[in-house]
Amino acid sequence: LRFEEINLSEEIQRGIRDMGFEEMSPIQSQAIPIVLAGNDIIGQAQTGTGKTAAFGIPIIERCNPDEKHVQALVLCPTRELSIQVAEEIGKLAKYKKGISVVPIYGGQPIDRQIKALKKGANIVIGTPGRVIDHIKRKTLKVDNVNMMVLDEADEMFDMGFRDDIALVMNQLGEDRQTIFFSATMPPEIMKFAGQYQTNPEIIKV
Ligand code: AMP
Repeated sequence: LRFEEINLSEEIQRGIRDMGFEEMSPIQSQAIPIVLAGNDIIGQAQTGTGKTAAFGIPIIERCNPDEKHVQALVLCPTRELSIQVAEEIGKLAKYKKGISVVPIYGGQPIDRQIKALKKGANIVIGTPGRVIDHIKRKTLKVDNVNMMVLDEADEMFDMGFRDDIALVMNQLGEDRQTIFFSATMPPEIMKFAGQYQTNPEIIKV
């Protein structure tokens, strides 16, 4: 299936065209409709499968630029991945006016991130430690987050971020959508998902 065949706003279609994407990858054609519908999902996909756009495109589409608060929060295992994901989502969202994508990760001066967050971020992408730091400083408010994404969940668990992730998840409202992506699905991830998701659709590529 081609991107132009699915029902997406013209703003996003332009962003997708600019990226040079034409055909959807298997993870994209499976995940995009589920996420667009507001449902929870567990997607098993390796890096290189197009997983970033698989959750990025529908979260941009579901973001309301008139609401000036953080609507989507993406947790990534590393600074590098946070930057990469923020860049890709930023490019895809380029023509959707009023959508601001902010990466927050350890190693970058916190003041710069505080300024970016204050300007009104809609989509925040970051590593668990720095995200918690901002929540504690009250420079990041997550109670209105309605889309929560864990990218490379297994990697984050292996790195010992499980409790940090739980701490973030526990601050969110009940009525949110929860999106997990992971290269593998060990029992601890499935158990965690069971605690935080509602009837997730499980997809594998
Ligand atoms: P990812 O798995 O998200 O790291 O994506 C791997 C690479 O594929 C990235 O460079 C993406 O920009 C690119 N990509 C993602 N989706 C598509 C697509 N549908 N067509 C062509 N390239 C894509």
